[in-house]
Amino acid sequence: MSMLLCDFHIHTTWSDGSVELPEVVDIYGQAGFDVISITDHVYNSDSTIGSWAERLNKTIAEENFPRYLEILEREAERAMARYGMLLIPGVEITKNYLSEEESAHVLLLNLKRYVSADLGWEEIFREARGQDALVVACHPHHTDHEIHDTLYFWNHRQKFASYFDAWEVANRTDLFSVVSLSNYPILANGDFHKANHLYSWKTLLPCLKNVEAVKECIRDNRGVAITMFRNGTARS
Ligand code: ZN
Ligand code: ZN
Repeated sequence: MSMLLCDFHIHTTWSDGSVELPEVVDIYGQAGFDVISITDHVYNSDSTIGSWAERLNKTIAEENFPRYLEILEREAERAMARYGMLLIPGVEITKNYLSEEESAHVLLLNLKRYVSADLGWEEIFREARGQDALVVACHPHHTDHEIHDTLYFWNHRQKFASYFDAWEVANRTDLFSVVSLSNYPILANGDFHKANHLYSWKTLLPCLKNVEAVKECIRDNRGVAITMFRNGTARS
């Protein structure tokens, strides 16, 4: 079976990305991707970043979630018809606090109903499980590109590991060797916010191109590979 080229962590102008959703679909479709997930931010409201995002209307909230999902479904149909590319709707639950020890981001993939980032983590995980959504710990270790690192889950991994279907072992150009050494199930994602973020870490999955097969493959995590998707040669 050939491997599917996948990126499960992508932002658009629905939150803090700079590229509109249809253009994002075209960028990934034309680059030959098999599976993508759009994961715009749902912010917690008890942080400065979160409340600013809401004021600027740059967040997925309970009010605009149905519209977000409707447009994602429309784009998913177009992505499949035009590029044979599977698009899975998702969000990034984004809890930012002044302390990087408290901050954490989580992808919920194949989400059907809105989940608030103001809920406690255990409640968020229960809600995601109830919807059979995939739960992925994002950039769980020190990165080069975040304003603040998001270390909460890594620092409490014994307590939370059972809630996660996968951990990002790589995000954009960062590689978290501590995650790979821990034997947790892994994914590698671009955390796309602008066009040149296409060139970043990706996941290769040995499964069929449908949502259930992709979810099962990530949960099982057998034969999952990661790759750096480069623009041209490394020396150019
Ligand atoms: Zn994030
Ligand atoms: Zn992100």
